[in-house]
Amino acid sequence: MSLITVGTMAFDAIETPFGKVDKIIGGSATYVALAASNFVTPIQQISIVGYDFPKEEMDDLKKRGVELDGVEIVADKKSFFWSGKYHLDMNSRDTLITDLNVLADFNPIVPDSYQGAEFLMLGNLDPKIQLSVINQLKTRPKLIVLDTMNFWMDIALDGLKEVLKKVDVLLVNDGEARQLSGEVSLVKAAKKIMGMGPKFLIIKKGEHGALLFHENHVFFAPALPLEEVFDPTGAGDTFAGGFIGHIAKTKDISFENMKTAIIVGSALASFCVEKFGPNKLKEITKSDIASRIDEFVQLVNFDIDLV
Ligand code: AMP
Repeated sequence: MSLITVGTMAFDAIETPFGKVDKIIGGSATYVALAASNFVTPIQQISIVGYDFPKEEMDDLKKRGVELDGVEIVADKKSFFWSGKYHLDMNSRDTLITDLNVLADFNPIVPDSYQGAEFLMLGNLDPKIQLSVINQLKTRPKLIVLDTMNFWMDIALDGLKEVLKKVDVLLVNDGEARQLSGEVSLVKAAKKIMGMGPKFLIIKKGEHGALLFHENHVFFAPALPLEEVFDPTGAGDTFAGGFIGHIAKTKDISFENMKTAIIVGSALASFCVEKFGPNKLKEITKSDIASRIDEFVQLVNFDIDLV
């Protein structure tokens, strides 16, 4: 049982209405791995970092069961750097800086030891790189999940459409679903996007939960109403990590099991936003996760007597 995760490992600078950090560990693959390793190991990571990425962070990931044979370390370049500032509602943000650095000429090589993986999580990254990983796999994984963002829709739409033909599940937020489909209605957007390749579509709506579409079915997972939201950075990637972690653990790729997986993803994301960067994710235990999932069950559980 193995899971390959692909994405960025980065430094982030984040400003929210509650504070500011100039340099904190981030990156899509970091969040995905931190979340998914609660459910399944080994996680086989594919990414790239520069000379400045802290060894302690790599060691911490290894301790959690994340294999780093597929993480290239470039001796003379800096790691990917992203900086963002959140608006007061915390649901929207402005990207201030995206310094690709090592990412500019990343040419991932899938290690032989990763071949045969059953699950592939393509975290937010250049679609060309996502496609290259799919093409290097000698056996197609049981499930390929892809996360992306407006940045790639703006600058690499053709590449994104190409890779979409090869994936099973796409994860985007509501704005991105509208941008990709040109439709305002999310139901119409879902139909159009599922016509581009993915059989399943997850539309994340921040503090308003997430929708899972498949054929004519739709399922909704709420987000937990939280008293304190400090920093939403990485919540989408953490959601993806919880989702694929649950699927890889249960090895069940049915729509029914994906419903559970989006609840698990939402539960993990609810921890992520409680502290800056990945700090909270590093603290949580399996029993914290179990009680948080129980809170989700209580949130939507009700009896009704129709007269
Ligand atoms: P999220 O809040 O889930 O969208 O993820 C935020 C994380 O994604 C940050 O840690 C960034 O380092 C990383 N990130 C931001 N922009 C990009 C990008 N264009 N490609 C890949 N990763 C990115």
